[in-house]
Amino acid sequence: MLPDADLLRTPLAELTALARVVRDGAHGRRVTFSPKVFVPLTMLCRDRCGYCTFAKAPARLAAPYLTAEEVLSVARAGREAGCHEALFTLGERPELRYPAARQWLEAQGHSSTVEYLAHVCRLVVEETGLLPHANAGALFPDELARLREVTASQGMMLESLAEGLAAHRGAPDKVPARRLATLEAAGELAIPFTTGILVGIGDDRPGQLAALRAIAASHARHGHVQEVIVQNFLPKPGTAMARTEPCPPEDLQWAIAAARLVLPPEIHVQAPPNLSDDLAPLLNAGIDDWGGVSPVTADHVNPERAWPALGVLREATEAAGHVLATRLTVYPTFALDPQRWLDAALRFPVLDASDAEGLGRDAPWCSGGEMPPPDLLGGLGSPGGWTSRPGRGGAVAEVLAGVALGHEVGAAEIVSLFSARGAEVRMVAEVADDLRRQAVGDAVTYVHNRNINYTNVCTFKCRFCAFSKGPLSLNLRGAPYLLELEEITRRVAEAEAEGATEVCLQGGIHPDFDGDYYLHVLEAVRAGSADIHIHGFTALEVTEGARRSGVPLADYLTRLREAGLKTLPGTAAEILDDEVRAVICPDKINTDEWLEAHRTAHSVGLRSNITIMFGSVERPTSWARHMVRTRDLQRETGGFTEFVPLPFVHMATPIYLQRRARRGPTFREALLMHAVARIAYAGDIDNIQVSWVKMGAAGARQLLRAGANDLGGTLMDENISRAAGAQHGQRMGVDELEAIVAPLGRPLVQRSTLYALAGATAGA
Ligand code: SF4
Repeated sequence: MLPDADLLRTPLAELTALARVVRDGAHGRRVTFSPKVFVPLTMLCRDRCGYCTFAKAPARLAAPYLTAEEVLSVARAGREAGCHEALFTLGERPELRYPAARQWLEAQGHSSTVEYLAHVCRLVVEETGLLPHANAGALFPDELARLREVTASQGMMLESLAEGLAAHRGAPDKVPARRLATLEAAGELAIPFTTGILVGIGDDRPGQLAALRAIAASHARHGHVQEVIVQNFLPKPGTAMARTEPCPPEDLQWAIAAARLVLPPEIHVQAPPNLSDDLAPLLNAGIDDWGGVSPVTADHVNPERAWPALGVLREATEAAGHVLATRLTVYPTFALDPQRWLDAALRFPVLDASDAEGLGRDAPWCSGGEMPPPDLLGGLGSPGGWTSRPGRGGAVAEVLAGVALGHEVGAAEIVSLFSARGAEVRMVAEVADDLRRQAVGDAVTYVHNRNINYTNVCTFKCRFCAFSKGPLSLNLRGAPYLLELEEITRRVAEAEAEGATEVCLQGGIHPDFDGDYYLHVLEAVRAGSADIHIHGFTALEVTEGARRSGVPLADYLTRLREAGLKTLPGTAAEILDDEVRAVICPDKINTDEWLEAHRTAHSVGLRSNITIMFGSVERPTSWARHMVRTRDLQRETGGFTEFVPLPFVHMATPIYLQRRARRGPTFREALLMHAVARIAYAGDIDNIQVSWVKMGAAGARQLLRAGANDLGGTLMDENISRAAGAQHGQRMGVDELEAIVAPLGRPLVQRSTLYALAGATAGA
């Protein structure tokens, strides 16, 4: 760490260069922002700061406080606009100065502003899901603790440690000792905390360094400081400091660079984007966060300075070679460790708004739902070339450069690719699209098939499963059933008559099944069709079948093959990472057992595919492990035909209804799952399939531009995703598949289960 003397003497250009190295090392090219609404709960304040136009006298306000209904109406508008945060900013303890404040609070049944704040924070999180961040000034420990129960994070600008600043004359809450005590108490209470310094209000550079070092020291004791705001003073008409010079840009840049170099690297450094005319120097000085930006409300502290539009912020960020990412009011380090940092009441609201990295979901789309997906690749026909755009750098670009040189991606590189945001997503998709073209050309394939789920009765208790009617099923749609074998025969004959070339058989593990049941199913299929390809029985079903028959798995699989089975679906893989399986399917076969079942199947002449069910509780490291483990097996046996990402459809699943899972992947994550798979399996597995049932038609079309080449089956009678709440239909006609593919100018081609192609039916 540089001593103060060096920080003070180093030329600005050198200092900012050092700050960028630290920033890039800790946070890469990612710059975050929090989409929020700004709630000025009260503009009354007992302090009189020399720069402030926020605080007003009672006579200048229509009412002392916003009513709960007014607050909720702002929060609802924010929810509609895609915000995750409700930032409560308010004056400090106005009830101690203004009788009107006291009387209003008493009439509402509240003894203090903080108590009323806690009340409305609870309403906001319960009724809108927005995550409150309370910025209520210098507070006592009991007040911080009270607010911790209803907020995801809290904040208070330290501003300055200089005693006797003219700016703070008449502001008893701005006494440095009070601010430091609040910062310290927040740490003791494990509150994710935002603080900062105000540059240009009379403090000199050594004074600013002292404030930054005090913040770093408190963080060293408690680990609770998530971000430090470096804010520039701007004079406002009508204030005591109206004639004071604004903070010069180079002073702001120096303070940002100093903050980046004094604070531990994990603390994020923020500068408000609406208080500077030029954003590039702020990035150049070392920030990695733009703070809260609102599409709905003004910055009530600086109402003369409008928030930049999101498009402007993104353009400025990308022009400087960074990528913009949506975050929550609570940063990932804290969101991903909820037991330590969040009150129990806030854990699910934070999880519900999170993506797999603990950042904010960037669009309302969810798999199986009816919301259209965001356009991540630009409209069809828009110029590509992101890979060659100058100024790109960072981990994603480095991995892609290695891919271009033919390097294999390992688990760490796969995790880096999953971190892609903004322009990086387009870069990954372009590389995947090229690899797809090289591997399988432009044909988009599908198989004409029928699903037969012979029973939904299951002895297993997978927590993500809304299909089975076991004791954990909270969703009671549909009764338990077991198809008669004659009905299986009838459905197979009907499917073949309609042109199906494949039946896909899978179901629950019925307590009454013995190992012979699956052989009887195969006989029933063959009674309906002598030729139809039988794709059936998960690794769990065949493992259970062998166990219940008391024979080795290889012998059992051989009997199934001799009875007509050709290929196994990869389902039951979920995530091949036992840490995650312990949470989502603790009594199911483990990772090694799944791999062994497929290894054995391949050894007796059966083929199979790989699935991954993603977006519930796991993180990208688990996706990477899944890919590497299955790729290793493919190199050993060559038996896998395709990789099939299955986004978690959350709506009716036990684990979501118990408030313990996310609401499936974001569309960005789903797109990357297909694109990264294309890159990770390059040379090993040629086919990457899109599940239109879970992605919808518009989503599927984008994924076909990001490495995918197959649309799976036409799927008469798809029941499993629909049981979980998916809205997309139970079957897809060839004309509907053509409607997905036609705008891409690529041919739609029917295939067999093993990818023997028929003639093209549509497209170029
Ligand atoms: S996922 Fe399969 S094994 Fe698990 S509960 Fe559902 S039907 Fe049973």
